[in-house]
Amino acid sequence: MEQNNIAILPENSPQRTRLHTVRWVAGLAAIPFLGVLTAFGVAPPSATEPPDLQRVVEEITLPAPELLDPGQDRYAREERIRRGDTLDILLSRLGAEDPAGAAFLRQSGRAALRQLVPGRTVRAEISGAGELLSLALPLGNGQVFAVQREEGRYRLREQSARTEGRTSMKSGVIESSLFAATDKAGVPDSVAQQLAEIFSSDVDFHKDLRRGDRFSVVYEATFAEGQPLGAGRVLAAEFVNQGRVYQAIYFRDGQGEGYYTPEGKSLRKAFLRSPLEFTRISSGFSSARFHPVLQTWRAHKGVDYAAPTGTRVRATADGAVAFAGRQGGYGNVVVLRHPNNTSTLYGHLSGFARGLRTGQRIGQGETVGYVGMSGLATGPHLHYEFRVNDVHLDPQRVAMPQAASINARNRAAFEQLAQPMAHRLTLLKSATNLALLE
Ligand SMILES: [Zn+2]
Repeated sequence: MEQNNIAILPENSPQRTRLHTVRWVAGLAAIPFLGVLTAFGVAPPSATEPPDLQRVVEEITLPAPELLDPGQDRYAREERIRRGDTLDILLSRLGAEDPAGAAFLRQSGRAALRQLVPGRTVRAEISGAGELLSLALPLGNGQVFAVQREEGRYRLREQSARTEGRTSMKSGVIESSLFAATDKAGVPDSVAQQLAEIFSSDVDFHKDLRRGDRFSVVYEATFAEGQPLGAGRVLAAEFVNQGRVYQAIYFRDGQGEGYYTPEGKSLRKAFLRSPLEFTRISSGFSSARFHPVLQTWRAHKGVDYAAPTGTRVRATADGAVAFAGRQGGYGNVVVLRHPNNTSTLYGHLSGFARGLRTGQRIGQGETVGYVGMSGLATGPHLHYEFRVNDVHLDPQRVAMPQAASINARNRAAFEQLAQPMAHRLTLLKSATNLALLE
């Protein structure tokens, strides 16, 4: 575990901070290529200025965002805003059960709450009883909408314009689950979830992960007045799954944004590997209780995903709703029709996405319904089928069509960005190898 200090920086636990800082510096002294190792901490967002040792040490000694005063009953939480989120949905994901806090936010934050832009990260402090103790919502103009509870009353804190973006670089090895590995590396959940999203056309994070898989990630972290405010977008990432290497570079141009391989191929493909949203809860869900007889694909021509009731089920590809309703053993089921005589089926749902109706167009990743155990199911799970010309295929074995490449007009700009990012991923990877060898 201690060997991971070199690969995985910074450690966020305050009790261990001092010890680790000392070990880290001592470790550096023992290793001849100090110049390389200093790159694994925190680099300025410009990426052109080489990070220095001073900056690394500063980052390690920052107060941990997750562990607040251990004597008090305070927990720091952060959540990425999703499409369709409302204040209530967001508060419930943050773990807040606080009508007074919600009412204050509704009253004082009317303008801010109109800006629940998907992808932004909200940070909150919640008491063990579910009270909202503070909330910080980054706004688009670099300002922060911040609310604090003091002596039982909520106060609107001054909106700070002094937010500062930094770049964090982390890596880790998967031993039991993705979230266990990202926890160990000090990677926030919102970044872990982005990792799973970015590679969701290539890797089924519910089925494909193996011990020894590795990740490296470069992401934006936002600080306001020196306090970590939350993690932002992933800028570059690598995922090694069962020996196969996948890399992603974030790129935005006038037309849109997305992730590309260092060679400029889009990571977004026609189909997602998994119809199930990947979350901390769904990833750790025990499959012990659900029908063992129907486990194999051959037996019933589908793939089963054990997951808690209510987990979001998403369209694996753009298409149209061919059927949404009850059907025998499938229970509540949605069938989507896609181009090239392809269709997908989602069974045993507890409910459908609001307003879902036959004929409706649906985009890849949009919600079709929620995991349940309707029909012939002994435990909550999703039954997923993939058909081409009405023939069932194993979705985990279907070769997906090639994705689009970056266009010629953007090629030069992309390469200018991709090369230093790919270099950072290489540095992170060698750090992981170094840690493994020790
Ligand atoms: Zn099934």
